[in-house]
Amino acid sequence: MNTNENIGRVASAAKEYGCETLENEPLAKYTTFKIGGPAALIVTVCTADVLSKLYALCSELDVKCMVIGNGSNLLVSDNGYSGVVFRLDGEFKNVSSVDNDNNLIRCGAGLTLAKLCKFALDNSLSGLEFAWGIPGSVGGAAFMNAGAYGGEMKDVIESVSYIAPDGTLGTLTKSQLDLSYRHSVFADKPGIITSVAVRLKRDDKQLIRERMDDFMDRRRTKQPLEYPSAGSVFKRPEGFFAGGLIEECGLKGKQIGGAQVSEKHAGFIINKGEATCKDVCDLVSFIQDTVKREKGVDLECEIRITE
Ligand SMILES: Cc1cc2nc3c(=O)[nH]c(=O)nc-3n(C[C@H](O)[C@H](O)[C@H](O)COP(=O)(O)OP(=O)(O)OC[C@H]3O[C@@H](n4cnc5c(N)ncnc54)[C@H](O)[C@@H]3O)c2cc1C
Repeated sequence: MNTNENIGRVASAAKEYGCETLENEPLAKYTTFKIGGPAALIVTVCTADVLSKLYALCSELDVKCMVIGNGSNLLVSDNGYSGVVFRLDGEFKNVSSVDNDNNLIRCGAGLTLAKLCKFALDNSLSGLEFAWGIPGSVGGAAFMNAGAYGGEMKDVIESVSYIAPDGTLGTLTKSQLDLSYRHSVFADKPGIITSVAVRLKRDDKQLIRERMDDFMDRRRTKQPLEYPSAGSVFKRPEGFFAGGLIEECGLKGKQIGGAQVSEKHAGFIINKGEATCKDVCDLVSFIQDTVKREKGVDLECEIRITE
């Protein structure tokens, strides 16, 4: 059976399970970069039970698949994605439990970080202030070990539940997640994170709010939030700041097609309107070549480029 027929089988199964399905839907709509061609199939899944069945079916039929969170760290090819893209909704968007004695919150991987931060604030729980303003989902943040202002998900994650490609459910503790700078075990082994437990600390609500406001102010002042982007394009090279190196090479404002090195923050590439994935990739290569030549530093991409 060819790929299209197999994707059709996944679509039929998804519809039988009551999932919303979209065929040949532009992924640009689902990424903060507003870039990306069509996905062969997008399936919105509301329960772990259904997700495990559909994930196992994709594996059995050899249909490639991926999960998209808030699409805030993704650069999707102009050709789109020739497999199945899962989006998490329903139970994945809930806070499933809060244990105030142990300062533990468990929530679905599809919940936005913003909602989790707000929930923690409402419960006078501190530790997630750094994440206020990171426009991702909790699952995407765990996958990326997202971090800012001296904090990272590694500081707060207690455990993560996930589904393996054969549909089995598992749980990994923090030490098993191999969390390091913008890396988790899921970068090397396939799996879909379904829920995340974070352990926080009790603190004064007003102080938590002040820290969140401070971090948000810093973002608004320094980042080009008025344009579509995927945040910092490059990882921080040892001993340097990517943005600083790019600025020193005179690349602020450098534009290829619709992709431009932000004038406000040289670590960001912004979409000025009609940028394509190719524009961004060409600009990334230009920046990498220039910084290597002029500064002798290799810049590695933090954004994830779909294949
Ligand atoms: C304006 C702006 C500011 C940003 N600031 C920061 C910052 O300060 N710090 C920082 O670290 N990042 C930052 N980012 C990048 C981004 O927001 C984070 O990396 C975020 O954690 C990505 O989450 P997401 O849900 O959008 O993931 P996506 O972009 O949807 O996906 C990213 C990767 O995670 C995988 N993934 C997503 N959900 C799951 C899941 N449930 N299970 C398994 N894999 C999954 C995807 O397949 C993909 O490989 C910023 C981005 C923007 C646009």
